[in-house]
Amino acid sequence: MKTLQELTRENIWNLTPYSCARDEFKGREASVFLDANENPYNTPYNRYPDPLQEELKAKLSTAKGVPAKNIFLGNGSDEAIDLVYRIFCEPHKDNVVAIAPTYGMYSVCADINDVEYRAVTLNDDFTLNTDRLLAAVDKHTKVIWLCSPNNPTGNALDRKEIERVLTTFQGIVVIDEAYSDFNDLPPFRHDLSRFPNMIVLNTFSKLWASASIRLGMAFASEEIIALYNKVKYPYNINQLSQQQALKILDELPRVNQWRMTILNERRNLLPAFAELPICKAVYPTEANFFLARMTDAGSIYHYLVDRGIIVRNRSRVQLCGNCLRITIGTPQENNALLGALRQYR
Ligand code: PMP
Repeated sequence: MKTLQELTRENIWNLTPYSCARDEFKGREASVFLDANENPYNTPYNRYPDPLQEELKAKLSTAKGVPAKNIFLGNGSDEAIDLVYRIFCEPHKDNVVAIAPTYGMYSVCADINDVEYRAVTLNDDFTLNTDRLLAAVDKHTKVIWLCSPNNPTGNALDRKEIERVLTTFQGIVVIDEAYSDFNDLPPFRHDLSRFPNMIVLNTFSKLWASASIRLGMAFASEEIIALYNKVKYPYNINQLSQQQALKILDELPRVNQWRMTILNERRNLLPAFAELPICKAVYPTEANFFLARMTDAGSIYHYLVDRGIIVRNRSRVQLCGNCLRITIGTPQENNALLGALRQYR
């Protein structure tokens, strides 16, 4: 790996971050806060939230098995994605390499930050072509984006191949494991000490049923987390989101129940879906959704919309011609989907 200083944009490495009132004073013994120009009357949202979300990270640390010092929290994973560009990639000069197809925000954030995005197509069966991926790297490549299980294909990338990328590439490797709760594969967040160039993304938006609070996680070395904390907005996670996140972390048995129900539904839905005459293939999935190749994805999509059932038409995505991406819902929702499609003519 190159040194972190070599990988980081010079302006970010040299940045003096904003120092907010809550950064300067930390301690519980004070009761009179006249340091942040807040309204003193309790609404109860009159005070700025904890800029580093320490209570939440302590609880999260236990839930995820990652030390709090290795956690960054963002306004959705999307913030953690965008900040990777702002920290590491010099516009017009650096580039990033990513698999294709994959989650769309990596390329949108590249465009926003004016950074070249090199998409490397997966094999036809959606497995990683590591040689092709690494061949796209040049001396200006700062970041490689991997997503496993991948969106929209649903499959997990081979761990050995991911490790080859981590050990061969000299820059930052981001592994987006937004869907890792839906399989029993060992997650990469437990290997931070083996791979100092790795950033692993997780989110509250999927299994943890909190998409609306916009809370994403990045796990990385303390040094990378320090760069994240330097660049983020001072109070990037609002108090309401922190409270709801603490609440869901107190309900992990319920979350686990959802997990079992969703995995059970996935086990039942996939073979039933594959038997539909209009389904040509259902692809293996390790996520809470699956990709299915249809006889005519466009008209089936509109047929479902007319019946109030919304799935994602991925037909225009590379390798995904005529494919629908379908989230696993409740048993009733999945039955409604199957029932409607059985009547499709
Ligand atoms: N990563 C992947 C792979 C996703 O599919 C999604 C959402 N569809 C996200 C990240 C976004 O997560 P968040 O809601 O935390 O921004």
